[in-house]
Amino acid sequence: MSLVIPLGSAKIRDDENTLPAPITKRDPSTFENYIHDASNFRGSAESVFIPFSEKQIADFLKEQSSRKIPVTIEGGHTGLTGGGVPGGGVVLSLEKLSHISEIRNNAIRVDSGAVLRDLQDFVQSKKCMYSPDPTERSAFVGGTVATNASGPRTFKYGSTRGHVRKMRVVLSSGDVLSLERGRYLLGADRTVVLESKDGRRIDFQIPTYAMPKTKNAAGYFVKPGMDLIDLFIGSEGTLGVITELELALVSCPEKIFGVIAFFESEDAAIRFVAKARSEQPASVLEYFDSRSLHLLRDKFPKIPQDANAAVFFEQEVAGASEAELLDRWLKLMAKCEALVDQSWVGLDAKRQGEFRDFRHEIGVIINETMARRGMRKVGTDMAVPDEALLPMMKFYRDTIRESGLDSATFGHIGNNHLHVNLLPKSKEEFDQAWILYRKWIERVISLGGTVAAEHGIGKIKVPFLEMMYGPKVIEEMRALKKSIDPAGILGRGTMFAFCHPEPTQQGSG
Ligand SMILES: Cc1cc2nc3c(=O)[nH]c(=O)nc-3n(C[C@H](O)[C@H](O)[C@H](O)COP(=O)(O)OP(=O)(O)OC[C@H]3O[C@@H](n4cnc5c(N)ncnc54)[C@H](O)[C@@H]3O)c2cc1C
Repeated sequence: MSLVIPLGSAKIRDDENTLPAPITKRDPSTFENYIHDASNFRGSAESVFIPFSEKQIADFLKEQSSRKIPVTIEGGHTGLTGGGVPGGGVVLSLEKLSHISEIRNNAIRVDSGAVLRDLQDFVQSKKCMYSPDPTERSAFVGGTVATNASGPRTFKYGSTRGHVRKMRVVLSSGDVLSLERGRYLLGADRTVVLESKDGRRIDFQIPTYAMPKTKNAAGYFVKPGMDLIDLFIGSEGTLGVITELELALVSCPEKIFGVIAFFESEDAAIRFVAKARSEQPASVLEYFDSRSLHLLRDKFPKIPQDANAAVFFEQEVAGASEAELLDRWLKLMAKCEALVDQSWVGLDAKRQGEFRDFRHEIGVIINETMARRGMRKVGTDMAVPDEALLPMMKFYRDTIRESGLDSATFGHIGNNHLHVNLLPKSKEEFDQAWILYRKWIERVISLGGTVAAEHGIGKIKVPFLEMMYGPKVIEEMRALKKSIDPAGILGRGTMFAFCHPEPTQQGSG
């Protein structure tokens, strides 16, 4: 039987009469902020629309649909794949929809333009935790849902998807879908009908392709019997504007300790990770290779000179005392030849904050290094199934050594998900890096992995999605999008190359 879901109207706010003044190129310094993201790609747009309410978004989208003007939805523009970079048309920024409500029933209602840092600090002040923690906390909450973001704590708590209970999303028709986890489950015929009060219908079929059995943020989420809310999580601004969310919270762990364990060799660190995954229930398990530590040394001069690799882990204290758990970890580190005496232990919140800064800084330092070189890095975001982690790491290391390219590898090793960053010094090296990247993609796909585990496909990784799924699945995804956004205005060029038969009145795809 078809899954029938009613379409509703947008919420009106008290300050509805405040009309947003669009930002245009006449104000170049402000305008500039809206045409790029953290991928360092720069786009183009005619203007930036900054609504105050859901109703203003609905009216705006209806108007843009009728004129077929492309709309790029933008959150905190911290994305690393260009999804929020406009390719013409208008940018819709969610920055004025930033209200955070009170906590009820272990959940919080939040506007999609709320900054992740504000949400996390607010819930922490109430002794609760919002577990998704993409390391860049200036992201907007809606952006993290639109990309199904992950982070170090994903190792224990899963990606953003599992924490979204309710969502309001404005479609390009101006209709509003109000979704609640558990309420709209796909039937055997995989058909969905969205029905408005005045009898208009949007019909579509959910495709049948199988997703990789890894952490994943590549393409639309589909699964037999799936919850429809999951289609919109990770849809990267191509299906609708997420305006409001209800997010599940957990109680703050009573106590956490963090450790940055240093090792003389990368092999010893990798052996430690393998043991830790099977023997110790960490909540965070992050890796840094030799070159990453080298890059970090300027800002963190106390990194031991002998260290050539590090593993950052956090342990929530439960089931045993802090001293007992720490003792177990120190023994495991010693068994795996860690530089135990020179490793860093953080028992209080301040020190743990410094460890998280250490983790965050590596991405920032790499970006700064590349900006100084006047070059772009080539950075991966791929995850593989458990059994493929070690062969894949060996493949990365062997091929990097053969290539002679500068690189730094770090990230979410607990989820078999490393960010391998190639850091070219010339145009020739940049081209060489892309050739190597494609070789890795082919290997990851053959091992059953994903080309985008947490940053999404955006505009930069469009060819990789096709490599992963093949042209037939891409056509199915495209058809799904076309049913929900018939004028093809939302997120043009994100996830798949723009292809629409009708001409636009303004902007390009
Ligand atoms: C230093 C650094 C470290 C990072 N570390 C991590 C990490 O550990 N894990 C991780 O997952 N990510 C990480 N990121 C990436 C980034 O923070 C995430 O991709 C983030 O989730 C994007 O949120 P945003 O609000 O900045 O969205 P934007 O960049 O503005 O947009 C991202 C995409 O979401 C869409 N979008 C945004 N808001 C909405 C909305 N309300 N409705 C519909 N679509 C929308 C946009 O159209 C675009 O396609 C890191 C980034 C940096 C710079």
